[in-house]
Amino acid sequence: MDFKIPIIPGDGIGVDVVREGVRALDRIGEVFGHTFTYEHILCGGACIDAHGVPLQDESIEKIKECDAILFGAVGGPKLDALPKEQRPERGLARLRREFNLFANLRPSKIYPDLKDKSPLKDRIIEKGVDIMLIRDLTGGIYFGNKGRREGKNGLEAYDEECYSVMEITRVAKKAFEIAMQRRKSVTSVDKANALEASRLWRDTVTEVAKDYPEVELKHMLVDKAAMELACNPSVFDVLLTTSIFGDILSDEAGVTTGSVGMLASAALNESGFGLYEPIHGTAPDIAGMGIANPLATIASVGMLLEIALNLPEEAKAIDRAINKVLHDGYRTGDIYMEGTTKVTTEEMGTYTIERITK
Ligand code: NAD
Repeated sequence: MDFKIPIIPGDGIGVDVVREGVRALDRIGEVFGHTFTYEHILCGGACIDAHGVPLQDESIEKIKECDAILFGAVGGPKLDALPKEQRPERGLARLRREFNLFANLRPSKIYPDLKDKSPLKDRIIEKGVDIMLIRDLTGGIYFGNKGRREGKNGLEAYDEECYSVMEITRVAKKAFEIAMQRRKSVTSVDKANALEASRLWRDTVTEVAKDYPEVELKHMLVDKAAMELACNPSVFDVLLTTSIFGDILSDEAGVTTGSVGMLASAALNESGFGLYEPIHGTAPDIAGMGIANPLATIASVGMLLEIALNLPEEAKAIDRAINKVLHDGYRTGDIYMEGTTKVTTEEMGTYTIERITK
């Protein structure tokens, strides 16, 4: 089959890791008989340097013709001083807004050969950790009314958590649809004992669940969920939550895997179109050194194949290759352990790609 993918490396290590992601796609094309064509698009600091804006209007038009976006990361210390409107992250924010990418998928799993890098004890992870955290990305407190005002005790500040039934329903549906492809369990995380927005969240998710009778639904308070992630993470299959709780819990879930260099993500809209990216940033401390771990990006390519292009066998081939390259002892610096072989970004890409087979 033929697919068109916009490639948006961004800044810093985004450039290095996305290069390896594209090589993985090319290899999938060779092995499985698909053709990938690419639109190379600048975003973030790279686009500011070339065109004075973090993303060009014409890039949005080009992306509309494509199947799914492969993204690296944007930002960097020299760009942090720019006025808000010109900051590199505005480019990513615009992509999310233009394409209405409201559902953020953050898988966390412990690769067997990396379990010693996890901060969790063996007895906690021995039952396996394979969580798909699905978080609302465009609503809730980060986007609600906010401001400062004079209150009865002087200056005060407020941020409003507001969710509509529509916003909760659409992200909950994504969670149940994805749970149907996995272990058929959704844990919806809220703070319904204290927040009205959480009570509506809980009622709405319960309604959506009626359309998915095969999926078990549990509700869990966010404080309990934070404890379970640290003490009993194998209880989770799909974890569904709001933008602020998901922001915090996804980092907690992610850290169990041992390195941000291993964590993929996706942001999807209602029709399933999405942006696929590693969760890490541009890593200015190692940018240009050729030592970044490309596996989070290659795993993001796996998600893109499975979710956007509906190619589950090709996605499995990516997952097998990552497991194999780790089992064969190759490690970038972030996941290095004594007795393994330290490799560069490009070498890790090459050794992983060589292991992509039918
Ligand atoms: P970061 O993820 O870039 O780096 C955190 C630490 O993890 C650093 O020590 C880095 O070297 C290491 N690291 C990250 N990715 C790695 C990889 N693939 N391999 C090996 N080590 C890796 O986070 P930060 O330092 O907080 O942010 C740096 C810049 O990235 C900032 O400008 C920030 O705004 C931006 N950022 C962008 C995105 C995005 O575009 N989606 C996400 C997060 C941060």
